[in-house]
Amino acid sequence: MASFQNSRVQSWRVMVCAGGSPPNRDGKIVGAVGVSGGSGQQDHTVAEAAPKHFNTLDWRESYMANNRGVVYVGPGKVEVRSIDFPKLSLGSRKCEHGVILKLVSTNICGSDQHMVRGRTTAPAGMVLGHEITGEIVEKGRDVEFLKVGDLVSAPFNIACGRCRNCREGKTGICLNVNGDRAGGAFGYVDMGGWIGGQADYVMTPYADFNLLKFPDKDQALEKIEDLTLLSDIFPTGYDGAVKAGVTTGSTVYVAGAGPVGLACAASCQLLGAAVVIVGDMIPERLAQARSFGCETIDLRERVPLGERIAQIVGVPEVDSAIDCVGFEAKGQAEQAGTEQPATVLNSLMALTRAGGAIGIPGLYVTDDPGAKDANAKQGVLGLRIGLGWAKSHTFGTGQCPVLRYNRQLMMAILHNKVAIAKAVNVTVLPLEEAPRGYSDFDKGAAKKFVLDPHGIVRSRRTATELVGAQS
Ligand code: NAD
Ligand code: ZN
Ligand code: ZN
Repeated sequence: MASFQNSRVQSWRVMVCAGGSPPNRDGKIVGAVGVSGGSGQQDHTVAEAAPKHFNTLDWRESYMANNRGVVYVGPGKVEVRSIDFPKLSLGSRKCEHGVILKLVSTNICGSDQHMVRGRTTAPAGMVLGHEITGEIVEKGRDVEFLKVGDLVSAPFNIACGRCRNCREGKTGICLNVNGDRAGGAFGYVDMGGWIGGQADYVMTPYADFNLLKFPDKDQALEKIEDLTLLSDIFPTGYDGAVKAGVTTGSTVYVAGAGPVGLACAASCQLLGAAVVIVGDMIPERLAQARSFGCETIDLRERVPLGERIAQIVGVPEVDSAIDCVGFEAKGQAEQAGTEQPATVLNSLMALTRAGGAIGIPGLYVTDDPGAKDANAKQGVLGLRIGLGWAKSHTFGTGQCPVLRYNRQLMMAILHNKVAIAKAVNVTVLPLEEAPRGYSDFDKGAAKKFVLDPHGIVRSRRTATELVGAQS
């Protein structure tokens, strides 16, 4: 059984060799799973062969035909379809700085929901997915510091590493990866047309610059449900907290208890906040926030937000506030079911102390064809900016530059300083169940859905549970 745990077991690829020599092709070990019935050296060799060599076999030959992706079909509808196997190419030229990843985990995001709800100009047929963790199965000639077999987290931002913004660490607004505007991402409208990673395989460019390699593959797989959150929501929540100036002893209000809001609340705790208050109108999500020590406010209540804050911290204001909602925000009390796109920003200016800061990871769009009024259709909102100005507020907006934080947050995960998967309630689904994940998430499930295209996350979990049951 010990050997079994160390293998990436997938029922359709398993070669079982009880003793004897591992299978060879041209003298090279091509893969094996050890079933150790004794202590012989041959059993040991077979067991070791699997993790070391499984991915060096001529995988292209076997899997080229197989790639599936989650495709946006139209408002309210996604499907898992056969898609082209990724190529190491950029238009007509070879992408020598890129790699092909076999997805280990790929998460569904609230940002995807804006597109799937038909609230953006996303075209039908787009392959979704920007939260990518995977194993390198092929690399271009110019990838120098990563190798086939490495397990990596891909920031959702695609960044060239060479432009002015990348060189200043502003990888969310790279100037070279999107022909239309600053900033690129996988599988996202207006973000450069890069193919999404809710798939079996995906191509990622500028690999040496972008990809974060996990130092120890086995250790990483043990914590994969936490580490999968490094591609977006953990750094994004953390960035919101940093932009809001959260530090030791801060009082904080986090608007939104979706995965980003919960990741932000956990980040505030990591940064040493004295009190973290989370507001939403979905009771299950508020209960999830309470499960790791946050105070909560149910926005369906008819008590003004400032009064509720005062009940918790003694005054009707906080040091720092973070908008983890975005442009599909709903109102409060009797308006809790009605969209009011400026309500969060306006309430955060009212609640944040003079001189305080407001982080705004929640997404605001330049075009919202599904909005109710003509202004909002063009991203024009009724902001009470005079209030923020009078209080000298600092605002921090935009896509999170994931690279700025992901290494430090990886270390916090690996050294048990934060239980981020638990905080956001990671729930693993096979790729084919992505439509159910999208639909449950849209209904407000208090879960962060993680897709597991190759069954690797689930087999890890099963192996760990088996060991747990034995010990
Ligand atoms: P989500 O849709 O699951 O969560 C939003 C939550 O806000 C919901 O629970 C909703 O009930 C709640 N809400 C609505 N109106 C509210 C109000 N007035 N006050 C408080 N809560 C309210 O989405 P998510 O995955 O948690 O993402 C949150 C936002 O962050 C989205 O807009 C997403 O696009 C954005 N995002 C930004 C970045 C970035 O880099 N800046 C990265 C990832 C996600
Ligand atoms: Zn995301
Ligand atoms: Zn760049």
